[in-house]
Amino acid sequence: MTRIYPHIIVAKFGGTSVADFDAMSRSATLVLADKNVRLVVLSASAGVTNLLVELASGLEGPVRLDKIETLRTLQYNIISRLKQPDAIGQEIDRLLDNISRLAEMAADSCSAALCDELVSHGELMSSLLFVEVLREQDVETQWFDARKVIRTNDTFGCAVPATSAIAELAEKRLRPRIEQALVVTQGFIGSDATGQTTTLGRGGSDYTASLLAEALHASRVDIWTDVAGIYTTDPRIVAQAKRIDNLSFSEAREMATFGAKVLHPATLLPAMRKNIPVFVGASGNPSAGGTLVCRDVLEPSRYRALAVRRRQTLLKLSSVKAQPAHRFLADTFGILSRHDMALDLVTTSETSIALILDSTSSTSGEADTLTTALLTELSSHCHVEVETGLALVSLIGNALAQATAVCQEVFAELEQHAVRMICHGASSHNLCFLLPAESADSAVKALHRRLLE
Ligand code: ADP
Ligand code: ASP
Ligand code: MG
Repeated sequence: MTRIYPHIIVAKFGGTSVADFDAMSRSATLVLADKNVRLVVLSASAGVTNLLVELASGLEGPVRLDKIETLRTLQYNIISRLKQPDAIGQEIDRLLDNISRLAEMAADSCSAALCDELVSHGELMSSLLFVEVLREQDVETQWFDARKVIRTNDTFGCAVPATSAIAELAEKRLRPRIEQALVVTQGFIGSDATGQTTTLGRGGSDYTASLLAEALHASRVDIWTDVAGIYTTDPRIVAQAKRIDNLSFSEAREMATFGAKVLHPATLLPAMRKNIPVFVGASGNPSAGGTLVCRDVLEPSRYRALAVRRRQTLLKLSSVKAQPAHRFLADTFGILSRHDMALDLVTTSETSIALILDSTSSTSGEADTLTTALLTELSSHCHVEVETGLALVSLIGNALAQATAVCQEVFAELEQHAVRMICHGASSHNLCFLLPAESADSAVKALHRRLLE
């Protein structure tokens, strides 16, 4: 079949790019600048998901009403700038009523499924409003419910997408729409096999964009955010951080996995599977250019970037009986696997195991990654220690495990820091260490000065 648009670009706009009417108008201009942009994926307006997560935790009377009022004001600040506010105002009122009802239910009894249903309203509202902004510029635009295509499992709060189902659904339900008009949909949200709303984890709209790009065989994904590309570290921590113009998929994936918030950790997976380049730029300053992530870069340097992941938990497990190390390791990992514990970095000695648990993507608290059932079973098997309030700092680069002076350079800068755990060797692309959260920024600044400036 001949396609009308053989080179589809999927453009994703993050929270600050749809924060208010002016930001939405700038983003609309970017969408219209390239006729190959046929699918727009949106986050909730900045701050909205945080408010919804608070409501989902079960707030009482006046505090709850206050948050809902803040949400209403954010929406009406946009609606009041539209030429024809009435019809969309009614739609948004309906969603705000839903939010009130769900927040009241959450105050009675919270659940992960209810939380996902509630937080999905942020993206539902921003996408409806963005369609209006485009229509007022005389662009034929269709609103599309992403839950019709983004099929996931039922792990609420951090659902796993079913890629082949998504490909099939996108071909059937989304492609025909894209051939007719510009389509605007929501990032972050999906639905399980029974139709219940799920979410892909905090920051998941980037992932939605690359999943849909994969399903539609798109030629590029554009991630429009509040920074003009991917930098050598978070420019909010180090003002001297420099933009990296070209990154390979594996370098960018490593950065995202280890905390470079500019991309959700899973974003690069679909792009890598289908070799789809990902561009990252600032919607507020498109002429500043950005970073292009693609399969290979020519001669990448040894040190590329530093990333920080906060809200880390260290779980230390020690054997309490005399037994061979392999038995202790096998039994412990068996327990972790039965409880579906997402493992991250691990170090072991003969009688103990230290594991880092990451809670950055979840909508719940830091220690909530450890369920009571898991802790009870682990405690009957070994001695358990849990330490929270930590941050993981990672040096990302190439051939790090083979280089001789890497550890010397890194540890010279870390003399003053209480390093709680080190991981080096399993991947030649990273060297990671765990620190008390309050010292992470100063470690990053020192390492950046030494290795990347
Ligand atoms: P959006 O809402 O558009 O998805 P995010 O807040 O999720 O935006 O991501 C953009 C932010 O990522 C930036 O404001 C910046 O502080 C942070 N960030 C962290 N690491 C990096 C990095 N290496 N390069 C650029 N930005 C980074
Ligand atoms: N709105 C969601 C969040 O704040 C998803 C996203 O912005 O990517 O986490
Ligand atoms: Mg983001």
